[in-house]
Amino acid sequence: MIWNPIKECMPEEQKRELQGKRLHKVVDYVYHNVPFYRHKMQEMGIEPGDIQTIDDIVKLPFTTKQDLRDNYPFGLQAAPQSEIIRIHASTGTTGNPTIVGYTRKDIDVWSECMSRCLTAYGVQRSDIFSVAYGYGLFTGGLGVHYGVENLGATVVPTSTGGTQKHAKLIKDLGVTGLACTPSYALHLAEVIEQMGIKKEDLKLRVGAFGAEPWTENMRQEIQARLGLKGYNIYGLSEIMGPCVSYECECQDGSHINEDHFYPEIINPVTLEPLERGTDGELVFTTLTKTGMPVLRYRTRDLCSLLPGDCPCGRTFVRMSAIKGRSDDMLIIRGINVFPSQVESVLLEIPECAPYYRLIVDRKDNLDILTVQVEARPDYLSEGFDTLSPITALEKKVADRLKSVLSISSVVQIKMPGSLERFEGKAKIVTDNRKLV
Ligand code: ADP
Ligand code: ZN
Repeated sequence: MIWNPIKECMPEEQKRELQGKRLHKVVDYVYHNVPFYRHKMQEMGIEPGDIQTIDDIVKLPFTTKQDLRDNYPFGLQAAPQSEIIRIHASTGTTGNPTIVGYTRKDIDVWSECMSRCLTAYGVQRSDIFSVAYGYGLFTGGLGVHYGVENLGATVVPTSTGGTQKHAKLIKDLGVTGLACTPSYALHLAEVIEQMGIKKEDLKLRVGAFGAEPWTENMRQEIQARLGLKGYNIYGLSEIMGPCVSYECECQDGSHINEDHFYPEIINPVTLEPLERGTDGELVFTTLTKTGMPVLRYRTRDLCSLLPGDCPCGRTFVRMSAIKGRSDDMLIIRGINVFPSQVESVLLEIPECAPYYRLIVDRKDNLDILTVQVEARPDYLSEGFDTLSPITALEKKVADRLKSVLSISSVVQIKMPGSLERFEGKAKIVTDNRKLV
């Protein structure tokens, strides 16, 4: 099913024309309402009249998270306060959070785009959908919530916390759909298993997982343990929240809601635009937002835009899975390492559970990568009294990692259940080098 075939399946030419018109309009709007953009454009010697087609986008300035922080809290807001009906904030680990204000129109566009995502996952009005993303300043909870309501399915606003209570509700209410982070989905699976609830007793059939990177192996694991089909959902608060892109039934990349969010891929160092199919940094321009529109926002997310058509019939371009962040990429002894690469390796090893941590230290000017991973309970139950299975597994994991990452690491096998579980975004990496 397609929620809005007129938009989602728009012929390419028509889509580009619409994008061009909308781009001109948004540029004109921010030029007259946001001094930050007016000054930037004046510095570059461009005016709204210079932006007529979507190809003109390359003339525009970039926006970074730092720009949002520097203009905290409302400096980039384009609409008057009386038009803003909601505020969200991105978590932000350092400094000011980024504040995003939404007008009623923005909330409507968001709900529309969320309904497109949910429909692509096969969600229908008869579904009972539990939203276990955090409700509050984080965009996940309320964003998905409005989409489910707009579609007409039943929403259960679970939010995070109280996993046992959530598990019971899923069973008792016959919940069919679940939205949460992939790491929380695994935690939920674990709690459900511990409570002795069988997946056959659940009606779960579809999951909308995102807000953090996850791999194909992780998908298989979640699907097998919860008995549902898991779909990717991507988004970020600076652009809107969850709904920016979504997988269809083909599950070969995520379609971007291109009539509202225009994507580009750039080389994060030279800032040059890159070809379809090439990995680089994802950049978005909001084409219709009125509260806080952004021009060429650098997401720091690394991925590619996929060439070719999708058999589902949607013409919206697809983005690959996020391969890392240009700011999260670890450089260990000069080699780029993405946490997702480590995850892929670990999940291919049957003795390893999908709970792991990466710790990077520097000793005597040498980077040391420590990978902690939990063993699966059934693996350790045999020969628990001897250390040999652990040592053997540590060696096996270290060898595999070495062949994939080209660097050696210290592997520590942990007891099942010993690593902290997260309800929101998982904190997988600790880089202690910054402290030295
Ligand atoms: P913050 O994490 O700063 O609070 P957001 O909550 O808006 O900001 O998170 C947006 C970021 O989350 C994205 O830029 C991306 O890095 C990550 N993210 C969101 N969805 C996905 C997804 N499906 N796959 C990978 N990463 C994702
Ligand atoms: Zn498709």
